[in-house]
Amino acid sequence: MRLYFTSDIQRVTSFTLPAKEEGAIKYVFDIHGAVLPQGKGISQHSFRTIDSFRMGQNSPDKLRVVIVSKEKNLNKKHSYEAKVLAIPLINGQKSTIGMVTRTSSIMSSIYSRINKKYTVVIDAGHGGRDGGASCCGNKKEKKVVLSVAKKLKSKLEDKGYKVYMTRTSDSFVKLPKRTAFANKKKADIFVSIHANAAPKKSLRKVFKGIEIYYLSPAKTQRAKEAAAKENSVMFEDKDYYTKNAYLSLISREKIVESHKLGIDVSNHMLKSVRQHYGAVEDGGVKTANFWVLVGAQMPAILVETGYITHPREGKNLMNGYYRSLLADGIANGIERYLKNKK
Ligand SMILES: [Zn+2]
Repeated sequence: MRLYFTSDIQRVTSFTLPAKEEGAIKYVFDIHGAVLPQGKGISQHSFRTIDSFRMGQNSPDKLRVVIVSKEKNLNKKHSYEAKVLAIPLINGQKSTIGMVTRTSSIMSSIYSRINKKYTVVIDAGHGGRDGGASCCGNKKEKKVVLSVAKKLKSKLEDKGYKVYMTRTSDSFVKLPKRTAFANKKKADIFVSIHANAAPKKSLRKVFKGIEIYYLSPAKTQRAKEAAAKENSVMFEDKDYYTKNAYLSLISREKIVESHKLGIDVSNHMLKSVRQHYGAVEDGGVKTANFWVLVGAQMPAILVETGYITHPREGKNLMNGYYRSLLADGIANGIERYLKNKK
């Protein structure tokens, strides 16, 4: 008998119990990380060669299969690989019985258990005396990004990830402390949330879009300008090791991983906001030397959620629903990246 799953089986444990039926054994197989389609509780199946076959959700992340059979040692003969659990039945069998367990509508609680092994550190840019970009009196980057960061935290937690924030209030946190915190938490991902600003007033209608940056020597003028702006607070911290020394140390692999993460986050952010807000400019995934990413020992990206100075984008960023869509996109992108990584 083969049980097919829509995703890889994590682990199968088995044990036996005495059965009521004469000469039969009750075999219990626990498939960890598996779940029945929603609304399906315990299902009963009948096969010619076994006395009884039952399947049910034993706990949110454990699917239990109970087989009563007169065959011996079934629990020792089972095997699993990738998406298939095979339980060989010998007596009077037409080889194997195929059965598909659809797990397409997997409950979020299952994802929770699976995702728990990953930790994400969210860094809301700026804070306290460092306001970041601002526009039109009331629009402040430090406020916008803290809101996105908080929404992102709860969305990632819903997906089951362990999440920490470098700041949870309007407080000033030095840049080196942000990645040092992520390293201490052994984060798998570091994501710094920002909002951009046009370099001068006359360009407010020109500069727009969602941009993702990862660390690597800056190439474009626009990337250099963005980095210069975000780095300005860093000039107060001259006692930090030099950026170039660090840049020469980051591995090719980490650059590639950060780039991949950036692409996933960018794709999902655009998808999320465009569904409700139509065209939102794709600013791309680019490299730049952001101090806040320096020192991160894990894939790290800096997300510019939009231009606070752009008339439409600035207005969107002040809207809670829009910020929630941004957070959805970032969370889905992170999930996508981590799923591919497995
Ligand atoms: Zn910023």
